[in-house]
Amino acid sequence: MELPEVTFFEDFYFWFNLDTKKEYYATPLYFYKADFHLDYDNKVRDVYYKETEVTDNGLKHPASLYFPFHERLGMLLLRFLNADLSNFEIANKTFFYAYGFEILRDLDKNYKFELKQNYGSNQEYLKATTKIFEDLKENLLDLQQELINAVTYIYNLDNNKALEKYTYSERFAVYLIKRMGKLYTYYKNDFIMRDSYSRKYQEIGNNSEYDLLETLQNKNQVLSMSDTHTSNDLSSICYAILEELSKTPNYPIKKCQNCGMYFVPTSKVDEIYCDYPKENSKTCRELGAFQSYTERLKQNKAMGEYRRTYQQKFMQIRKDKSNTKLGKDFETWKKQAKEKINDMKKGKITENEVYEWIMKNK
Ligand SMILES: [Zn+2]
Repeated sequence: MELPEVTFFEDFYFWFNLDTKKEYYATPLYFYKADFHLDYDNKVRDVYYKETEVTDNGLKHPASLYFPFHERLGMLLLRFLNADLSNFEIANKTFFYAYGFEILRDLDKNYKFELKQNYGSNQEYLKATTKIFEDLKENLLDLQQELINAVTYIYNLDNNKALEKYTYSERFAVYLIKRMGKLYTYYKNDFIMRDSYSRKYQEIGNNSEYDLLETLQNKNQVLSMSDTHTSNDLSSICYAILEELSKTPNYPIKKCQNCGMYFVPTSKVDEIYCDYPKENSKTCRELGAFQSYTERLKQNKAMGEYRRTYQQKFMQIRKDKSNTKLGKDFETWKKQAKEKINDMKKGKITENEVYEWIMKNK
C-alpha cells in the first residue's frame, strides 16, 4: 500500500485492504510531537499502550516510523464501540491515543477548533486536547450509542429470530433506508479518492497481458481496488468502516459474553468470547475455557460428594435449630471444603484427595 500522493499532515486518511483484512491510517504529525511519557497531574504516565497490547497485529505507531500504521480490519470502529468516554484520561487510553484528535474536527459543524503543529510541552498538549474532548463529550457519547444500536441490528446481536436469515449487508442497507437511528446521516464528511488503474500499472503493469488475465481468472474476482478516504469526522469514519465490514462475509462483530466488549472473532466465526488482553489477567477466551473446565469439574465425584454432604448437613441443622454447635461446625466445614475445592481447581491437590477429605469429614 502506498500513501496517497498528497500531503497527509492536515487530515486523517484511511483505506482498506480487503484481501489481507487490514485497515490503514495516516494521521497528522503534530499529534505525535508530545512526549510518550506525559507529566499529567505531576505524575509521569504513559498514556499509550505498548505496541503488543490491544491490537492483534501490533499497532504500527507513527512515531516508530512505521508510517502509515495498520491494524486488523474494523479495529477503529471496535475500539470506539468499546471506548470508555467517561473522562479524558480513560477516553485517551482506550481510544484517542491511537488515532489522534483531528478526527473530531468536523464532528460537530458548530464546533471548530485548530490543532497546532507543536504544543511545546505535554501540559499544553493535554490542556488543549482535554478541552476538545470535554466540549465534544456529549456528541461522542451520542455517536457511540448510535453506532452500538446500528451494530446490534446489523449483526443481530439481540438474536432476533426473524432477522437471522439475512446477511450483514442486507441489514445494513435496510437500517439506513428505513432510517433507523442516525447512522444514515453519517456519510457526509468523507472525501474519497478513487483507486485507479494507473496505480495498478505502476504495481503490476510489467506483467504480461495473459499473466494478468490468468491471475484475475484464478482469483475468480475483480481486481481489488482500494479507495482512500479523508475525513476529520469520526462519525463518517465509523460509517465507512461499518459499510466495509458489512460487505465482508464471515467477519461478524460480536459482543463478548464475558466482558461485553465488541470484537471480531479471530479463529472461529461463532466464537462467543473476545481475546482482548486484560490487564494482569487472562483473556475472556481463556477464562471461557476455564469456565467450561470448572463446568466439567461439577460432574466429577468429589463435587458430587460435596453437594450430597452439604445437603445432609444443611438438613440436620434445619431439624435441630437450637443446636448452635452444629451450625458453627457447618460453617467451618463449608469454609474448609471450599478451600479444598479451590485448591483442586488450581491444580494444587487432586480430585481424589478432595473426595477423601469429604468422606473423612462427613
Ligand atoms: Zn471479553
